[in-house]
Amino acid sequence: MDKIKFATIWLAGCSGCHMSFLDLDEFLIDLADLVDVVYSPVGCDLKDYPEGVDVCLVEGAVANEDNLELIYQVRRRTQTLIAFGDCAVTANVPAMRNMLREGAKPVLERGYLELADENPHLPHAPGIVPELLDRVLPVHEVVPIDIFMPGCPPSADRIRATLEPLLQGQQPAMVGRDMIKFG
Ligand code: SF4
Repeated sequence: MDKIKFATIWLAGCSGCHMSFLDLDEFLIDLADLVDVVYSPVGCDLKDYPEGVDVCLVEGAVANEDNLELIYQVRRRTQTLIAFGDCAVTANVPAMRNMLREGAKPVLERGYLELADENPHLPHAPGIVPELLDRVLPVHEVVPIDIFMPGCPPSADRIRATLEPLLQGQQPAMVGRDMIKFG
């Protein structure tokens, strides 16, 4: 039987959801028997997201042009997309700058002009430094999501309870406090 093609991506997030994924401990060994990890910031060095991915965990919100380009490509190439953690589900911490209601400008000015010790200037390097979007978006506002897995981060138990049925061709039951509590 072909192994499931499994991926994870990291958009605007702190990587805490990926750290929780690594907390799966011995289940990671079981997982290795069931899946081929074809793209991930942990344990996989491929630079391009491949075609024909079966399952992908998406950590983080959509905050810049690179995030936007990647998530469109990932959606096109993935069967089951999972919003992985509160930043992916609601935009959470990265979206705090949305409260300023003036796009990315106040954040950039604070970070690169007001707080600069020397040579204050706004970053502008098209093709090298991705431009920030005016608003940080939860992933489902950009592309359709198949499964929402909240948590900041989701516990290893919740990750396992989501992935185990999915890898056996069944839908996980995303109900109840253990599976859908935020934070
Ligand atoms: S949901 Fe929490 S742990 Fe996950 S990337 Fe966002 S801030 Fe980090």
